Amino acid sequence: MPRKRLIWQIFPLFVFVAAGSLVLAAFYATQTVGQIYQSQRRAELEARAKLIAPVISGALYTESTEDLNELCAQLGAAASARVTIILPSGTVLADSAHDSETMDNHADRPEVIEALSGQSGNSTRYSYTLRTDLTYVALPIYQKEEIAGVVRIAVPEPNIRSAIRSTYVEVATGIALVGLVVAALSLIATRSVTRPVDLLRRGAERFANGDLATRLVVSNTVELGLLANTMNTMAVQLEDRIHTVERHRNELQAVLSSMVEGVIAFDSDERVISLNQAAADIFNVPQEQAVGRVIHEVFRNVDLQRFVASILATGGSQIGSIVLKHRAEEHLQLQGAALHDAQGKRIGGLIVLHDITRLHKLETARRDFVSNVSHELKTPITAIKGYVETLLDGALDDPEASRKFLGIIGKQAERLTALIEDLLRLSRLEQDAEQARLPLEFGPIRDVIERAVQACDPTIAAKRMNVQVTCDPGIRTRINAPLLQLAIENLLENATKYSEEGTNIRIEVNREPQNVLIAITDQGCGIEQEHLTRIFERFYRVDKARSRKLGGTGLGLAIVKHIVRVHGGQVSVDSIPNKGSTFRISLPAGTVAETSANPGSN
Ligand code: ADP
Repeated sequence: MPRKRLIWQIFPLFVFVAAGSLVLAAFYATQTVGQIYQSQRRAELEARAKLIAPVISGALYTESTEDLNELCAQLGAAASARVTIILPSGTVLADSAHDSETMDNHADRPEVIEALSGQSGNSTRYSYTLRTDLTYVALPIYQKEEIAGVVRIAVPEPNIRSAIRSTYVEVATGIALVGLVVAALSLIATRSVTRPVDLLRRGAERFANGDLATRLVVSNTVELGLLANTMNTMAVQLEDRIHTVERHRNELQAVLSSMVEGVIAFDSDERVISLNQAAADIFNVPQEQAVGRVIHEVFRNVDLQRFVASILATGGSQIGSIVLKHRAEEHLQLQGAALHDAQGKRIGGLIVLHDITRLHKLETARRDFVSNVSHELKTPITAIKGYVETLLDGALDDPEASRKFLGIIGKQAERLTALIEDLLRLSRLEQDAEQARLPLEFGPIRDVIERAVQACDPTIAAKRMNVQVTCDPGIRTRINAPLLQLAIENLLENATKYSEEGTNIRIEVNREPQNVLIAITDQGCGIEQEHLTRIFERFYRVDKARSRKLGGTGLGLAIVKHIVRVHGGQVSVDSIPNKGSTFRISLPAGTVAETSANPGSN
């Protein structure tokens, strides 16, 4: 059904009720006036008839018909009415307006019937004789207490009708005028009702559009005023609730976006409800585009899809893990749980993703380390055991073989000692670094380098190598001198170990705005490109046999890396196979203030 405006529902009703009441009142009034008029007229006619009746009664059986007609004519003229004399049989004896001879029997006329029954009779109807509406009043004429006939007088009705009709016209005009005034007043009244309602409607529309700061004008009408007040209160509460919800949402967003762990929420149809930046970064998907899409469209990982399906199927908490291979290998631990709404109905699930790649790497490194250490220790121990058995089996009797075997056993024991010393050194370094027990002091680099060269002097001299140091004595920075010396000794030992006799080693120290750079360059065998990233790992050796033969433990560069890290610096290597290598240690430079604070100590 088409909806109408309130004004068009109330206003026509007002007009209809007002016009209907007016018409009814006018109808009732004109009817009443008509009836009063009629009854007065009849009473008057009756009075006239009562005056005429005795005259006619006296002449009824004494006069001739002609005379009676004449009498009727005279009486009719005097009474301004038609006068008729009717016998009890209904025969018209005389009439003032018509020839009584030609008139039919009047016994069936209602007024005549009533008069013959002894009462005053009246009737208004169309007279076919005079061809007009007439009002009749008939009275019985008594002679010797017997009804001897009926006298009837009649006046034409048109006078009454036209009088009533003219009244109707006046009343109708009045009604029309009053109707117009009523309609105008109704319109004003209706508007005074609908305008505040309209204002409320507009206000409600603004509320619906989210403008909850607006307030409705409180109308004078009690009901509308109450409604406006209630709606205003509702808007305040709604605004308050929206603010609370927004605050909670922002807090949740802040928590989710600051989380290192990825969080993915999804509904029962496996559609993403939300995901935080960490989750988007882990899977390398745009955060906004993922929301509303199905999990398998967004995250192309079968294990994750299976995990989601399993959460939805079981509804319980789950723990799992997946491996991502789109960048470097990433290991993720998944914790899943079902999501429930306020009524406790299950509406989806939630996954928290922990990046355990580092942990995984550490675990792998730990495992590798244990296996490497065992392997490294096993080799010399096996050798020692083998030679001891050989000696016990009889080689002891051969002094020359005994000396040779004991020499080998001694070398293997030395190797074991070196290995254990390096391991202990590494472990102490790690412990000290963890507990921040390695104090750094401002000191000159050159002294450290000179002491390191001195310590390696026997090896360098044995290979007839030449070490050239270029270092400004004023270059100072925050260092742990014994550790830095150890690092440089390790690099120098490597440079001697992996270089031919008589070659040169260059140590250059430069000060840059942010760093102090120590570069140790040799002319040795160099390192293939593929090994460069791995040689700082524990026990990593390019050529195991060569390293072992030269007494290497495979831990030297790992110790260097740790020492440099303790200093807050970095170590790197450049190498060209068969040409030589350059190991660079970059240490954070001290401030100018620190440097100039101690100018004379070089
Ligand atoms: P190692 O005890 O075997 O020398 P390091 O940790 O000191 O162990 O070095 C790891 C590996 O790096 C060595 O086995 C060697 O293959 C390579 N290496 C280190 N320094 C040099 C260098 N100056 N020239 C060539 N190779 C080197």
